[in-house]
Amino acid sequence: LNRRLEGLGTTVFAEMSALATATGSINLGQGFPDTDGPAEVLEAAVRAIREGRGNQYPPGPGIPELRHAVADHQRARYGLEFDPDREVLVTAGATEAIAAALLALLEPGDEVVALEPFYDSYAACVAMAGAKLVGVTLRPPEFALDLDALRDAVTDRTRLILLNTPHNPTGAVLTKDELAAVAELALERDLLVVTDEVYEHLVYEGEHVPLATLPGMRERTVTIGSHGKTFSFTGWKIGWVTGTPELVGAVRTVKQFLTYVSGGPFQYAAAEALRLPEAYYTALRAELKARRDLLAAGLEEAGFTVYRPRGTYFITTDVRPLGESDGVEFCRRLPERCGVVAIPAAVFYGDAEAGGGTPLVRFTFCKQPQVLAEAVDRLKAGL
Ligand code: PMP
Ligand code: GLN
Repeated sequence: LNRRLEGLGTTVFAEMSALATATGSINLGQGFPDTDGPAEVLEAAVRAIREGRGNQYPPGPGIPELRHAVADHQRARYGLEFDPDREVLVTAGATEAIAAALLALLEPGDEVVALEPFYDSYAACVAMAGAKLVGVTLRPPEFALDLDALRDAVTDRTRLILLNTPHNPTGAVLTKDELAAVAELALERDLLVVTDEVYEHLVYEGEHVPLATLPGMRERTVTIGSHGKTFSFTGWKIGWVTGTPELVGAVRTVKQFLTYVSGGPFQYAAAEALRLPEAYYTALRAELKARRDLLAAGLEEAGFTVYRPRGTYFITTDVRPLGESDGVEFCRRLPERCGVVAIPAAVFYGDAEAGGGTPLVRFTFCKQPQVLAEAVDRLKAGL
């Protein structure tokens, strides 16, 4: 492994899911639903395979049907206009979109400002680009963006801000004021923004505002979405990027040499999924909100401090009321103590101690209610 990637051995998600399987634990670690998305979307994929659509290399930028559906989605929801031919790119999940965007837009030695804690692929991709990640720490209980810290994090070497809202792992949803501050800074310092909005539809209080809707931001923002999150098919790995022809073209150049294309038949299904009626999104939100409330209440009863998230399908907790101090240690022992797997938030920090992440532990609630209830019972009995 080259020096740029030192310390980035195995993702915590793979490690923790393997631990869950090996110990027969309930996996509230890695964020993936334990029931699949809508049957009609599944059928659309099967139909595409049977009918020979997408079984050979699809077009490089993605099939036109999906690019049009993404453009329609951005217009209908947010009033954002994108040309499906030049301003939309289909990727192998949001993961590839993040990697391709960072590799396309960063020079070695550049700095990237990102909200800390951050999704683990950010640090790896920034490192692969030879750039440096500078964290702006979100702190409990609100995990609000500290606007002074954000401003202080920008230097002459800063090339871009890597945003994530709704935010994994804290569940924070950036407010209009916070987004306005990001926009102001980006304009003032001439920065690009890559914004990871994969949880755009999973907001329970407040609303998701895409950064690209703010004045002057469409021109300098790469927005990332994920079919896996919105439609509960994380294994299909269909994501997308929207932005100006220059920005999307740059991402596309890199994408060509990472995967070239992927998921042909699933792209047809994703296009159909994006055309589901509003009732789908309303039901998804209502279902996940009920699960959030179930798990949050249960974790409180089990003794955790719970930071109830406004978005995503993750809850961040603090283990100190349980007499513990280290989330990594806590998560390592949790399978044998309780038969439950969770993720130590420390892995999402550059410096967990300095950022206050050491005692924090993340649980996902994208599981069936009876599974969440059983996990809560086990935690209450074992802790
Ligand atoms: N960004 C964030 C913040 C995520 O939580 C995830 C899913 N773990 C991804 C990107 C990756 O999404 P995908 O599965 O579409 O690659
Ligand atoms: N995004 C998911 C999470 O945060 C996992 C994705 C992955 O395993 N790479 O749990």
